[in-house]
Amino acid sequence: MADDADVIVVGGGLAGLVAATEIADAGKHVIVVDQEGEQSLGGQAFWSFGGLFLVDSPEQRRLGIKDSHDLALQDWMASAGFDRDEDLWPKRWAEAYVAFAATEKRNWLRAMGHRIFPIVGWAERGGYDAMSHGNSVPRFHVTWGTGPGIVEPFERRAREAEANGNLTFRFRHRVDALSITNGAVDGVSGVILEPSNVERGKSSSRHVIGEFTLRAQAVIVASGGIGGNHDVVRKNWPRRLGEPPGHLISGVPEHVDGRMIGITEAAGARLINRDRMWHYVEGIRNWSPIWPRHGIRILPGPSPMWFDAKGKRLPSPLFPGSDTLGQLQYIMGTGYDYSWFVLTQSIIKKEFALSGSEQNPDLTGKSWRMTAKRATSKAAPAPVETFKTHGADFIVRDNLEALVSAMNALAGDNLLQVEHLKAQIEARDREITNPYVKDTQVMNIHNARRYIGDRLIRTAKPHRILDPAHGPLIAVKLNILTRKTLGGFETDLNSRVFGQHGQIMPGLYAVGEAAGFGGGGMHGYRSLEGTFLGGCLFSGRNAGRAAAKAVA
Ligand SMILES: Cc1cc2nc3c(=O)[nH]c(=O)nc-3n(C[C@H](O)[C@H](O)[C@H](O)COP(=O)(O)OP(=O)(O)OC[C@H]3O[C@@H](n4cnc5c(N)ncnc54)[C@H](O)[C@@H]3O)c2cc1C
Repeated sequence: MADDADVIVVGGGLAGLVAATEIADAGKHVIVVDQEGEQSLGGQAFWSFGGLFLVDSPEQRRLGIKDSHDLALQDWMASAGFDRDEDLWPKRWAEAYVAFAATEKRNWLRAMGHRIFPIVGWAERGGYDAMSHGNSVPRFHVTWGTGPGIVEPFERRAREAEANGNLTFRFRHRVDALSITNGAVDGVSGVILEPSNVERGKSSSRHVIGEFTLRAQAVIVASGGIGGNHDVVRKNWPRRLGEPPGHLISGVPEHVDGRMIGITEAAGARLINRDRMWHYVEGIRNWSPIWPRHGIRILPGPSPMWFDAKGKRLPSPLFPGSDTLGQLQYIMGTGYDYSWFVLTQSIIKKEFALSGSEQNPDLTGKSWRMTAKRATSKAAPAPVETFKTHGADFIVRDNLEALVSAMNALAGDNLLQVEHLKAQIEARDREITNPYVKDTQVMNIHNARRYIGDRLIRTAKPHRILDPAHGPLIAVKLNILTRKTLGGFETDLNSRVFGQHGQIMPGLYAVGEAAGFGGGGMHGYRSLEGTFLGGCLFSGRNAGRAAAKAVA
């Protein structure tokens, strides 16, 4: 039987698009199959904040940040904590990826027209010691244009390849099986779903109108992770993070269903590190949801006070923006699956950002005028102010008594006592007068303000939380929000998939979130952030180049 293409890519998210465009540019014919409609091309990356991990970039240097490959690798390995036999390839991927982020990555993107917002963010700051989790320096480079800005160069290349006949899209084609002939993967089969004109990101119908089979010399699985499927998240939930949360909200669209992972595993591929995942604890219910259980992650600055469900302040160094999984572990250990931020209007105005392209119209729309308001406006960015008014998890009051009473009413379980919160807030407030202090969170605030990027747009001037001049007071109920899958299919550096007995499966490649962003989990246990889009770029590129060479 004649082949339909040289290579088939399953999934038109970022990783699939990168792989497909590399194949098409090498003069080979590639088919991209996606279960969603054309309007959802780009997958999760479109919705993303577009944050990218880069090392020793011109943007960092301009801000006085001294970064290096060695420092980044030290941070990566400390965060990853690789400790398993199956970490062999993930660790090799981590080394190769950090080298990519410190060398080619920025220029490769730049040559395609990608641009970066000049102020570099400081995610996952850690707070333990130099050999433990976290970024020693700011490294989170936001794409000018956020998520759509990272998809755009690859969609453009894909459309050009489509026009010259090297690339074909098959939307609304859902893969249900891989075909294997004489031990080599050589095609896919599945069903054709009825056309759908739902808006991008919304759940589309699964009504079947036909069947299909496609053959090629190689198949690249680029189907994303499991974050939209809470049953699988709970099933794979690691006991080291406590019991799986009873209540979860979704940081990803419903198509991130993990189904193709099961199909690929059933075909013989080796899935490793399935218990490693990356979920956030600062999730808020979207007042205007696009996908089911739609939650948004707050990207907080360092100043909000953080309390557990019973009103006890989270221990040092679990301050906002320090250690996502440390916070998750702590919160699940309290026996409740939510926690609280308490802050002021001055803090929300300067420190709250919401992750997601649609929540940042200034950066997504590439408007310098609107973006400049982040530094100058008296109000928080418009989407944050809108959440403050409409968001089910936001409470705004003029005094602590009223705030705590509304917090108790929202949680419905009367666990909070005004005097308990007041004592902790007043104690912290007494530390604010001096620049040298005992309270580690206040120390962190002073430290952050020594970095010009934070002082300009991310860290409020230190002030007393209970100072009415900085009010009103705000409380935010924080939910656990599913997002990324850190484990995945074990692959070599060409993204070729290993089978369950340790042999390479001829013809099969895996990229992006389905491959744990490279190798089956290049992050190990923890991420430094901005590393997911980057993992899709790097693994997609490696797979595309290798597959194009491998096919005759
Ligand atoms: C709101 C948000 C903010 C984010 N911010 C950042 C950030 O700032 N920095 C960062 O590094 N990362 C960020 N991420 C994470 C990052 O966007 C994702 O990890 C990444 O885009 C995943 O890309 P992917 O190509 O692997 O998978 P996806 O984007 O999930 O694409 C997979 C595609 O495969 C299709 N598919 C699945 N199964 C099948 C099947 N059986 N048959 C046919 N098609 C199938 C799906 O329909 C989908 O189109 C964010 C994510 C979100 C949602």
